[in-house]
Amino acid sequence: MATAKRDYYEVLGVGRSATPEELKRAYRKLAMEYHPDRNNGDKTAEERFKEIGEAYAVLSDPQKRQQYDMFGHSAQGIPNDFGFSFDSAFDLFDMFFGGGGRRRPRGGPARGDDLRMNIEVSFEEAVFGAKRTIDVPRAETCTTCGGSGAKPGTQATQCATCHGSGQVARMMQSIFGQMQSVQTCPACRGEGRVIADPCTACRGQGRIDARRSVEVTIPAGVDEDVTLRLAGEGEVGPRGGGAGDLYLGFRVKPHPQLVRRGQDILYELPVSVTQAVLGDAITVPTVDGERTVELPAGTQPGKQIRLHGLGVPHVRTGRRGDQLCLVRVVVPTHLNHKDKALYEELGGREGKPVEVKRGFFDSLRDALRA
Ligand SMILES: [Zn+2]
Ligand SMILES: [Zn+2]
Repeated sequence: MATAKRDYYEVLGVGRSATPEELKRAYRKLAMEYHPDRNNGDKTAEERFKEIGEAYAVLSDPQKRQQYDMFGHSAQGIPNDFGFSFDSAFDLFDMFFGGGGRRRPRGGPARGDDLRMNIEVSFEEAVFGAKRTIDVPRAETCTTCGGSGAKPGTQATQCATCHGSGQVARMMQSIFGQMQSVQTCPACRGEGRVIADPCTACRGQGRIDARRSVEVTIPAGVDEDVTLRLAGEGEVGPRGGGAGDLYLGFRVKPHPQLVRRGQDILYELPVSVTQAVLGDAITVPTVDGERTVELPAGTQPGKQIRLHGLGVPHVRTGRRGDQLCLVRVVVPTHLNHKDKALYEELGGREGKPVEVKRGFFDSLRDALRA
């Protein structure tokens, strides 16, 4: 709620210099007074109960209190609603009083479980996407009873204990004295209906174990850290409870020559000394098929040649990265007589390092200065 909030001290009815003991006393008194179970579900009391819990949660924490004193409701770490729900208010109350009538509203059959599966895709499928049919073992609606769990021709009847609400009220002794507590109906486990004559195919469960073929569209650009959520493709719940979701993860098979790095694809381009010295037009593999790379004369080892737009599309934006060809000069280790003679003829063995205009350390210094 983004409405203006009341001052926490005002909510608890204490001064700004209240001691932790005074805060505790104020919370104890007000939380008991406004506990929803004591106010027959009165909406104003419910709001007050939550407000009191939130105020106490902030002011009883020395660090949060200090921040609140300095910055009020806009204090960092105390977002407007503080993430404080009714559940938090009940949790706090239980913590404070060591347990006491918490309500757990329920009703109707439970939703089915979510499922998690991993599928293996090729490098190219991960890059370009694909359509797949996968086999999912999961609980499906029983076709004999249509999911009701009741024998065909019979019907589930309203639970006599809770009259279909799934909840029962019980009088119990509590810190408030005699108090009404609302609990999940034990006769129907909160479903509000009971089955006198269960379906024999599913033994009253309304669902059976089955396998289902599910069509999946794998988006272009998926990677092993991407999870696809297929809503409603999980297990169905018992007796007509809705289906959970299917979460699909991916294992990407490695490519023999290409390696993915984010949106880019790396390729190690091995070239001969002659190709590096004289240059060449070299055919290289890419995910889009073969491409020709112009290797200029005098190419140094470690040079990167960028092929724009031949990388992996971003899974959401579709923008493609690049392919980077990393040049590796392969120095021959075994020379035949003829080649050896040719290298000898080239000369260059003067017993001292080769003269270079700019060495590795010059580039390093430039990089550090930048
Ligand atoms: Zn059935
Ligand atoms: Zn019931």
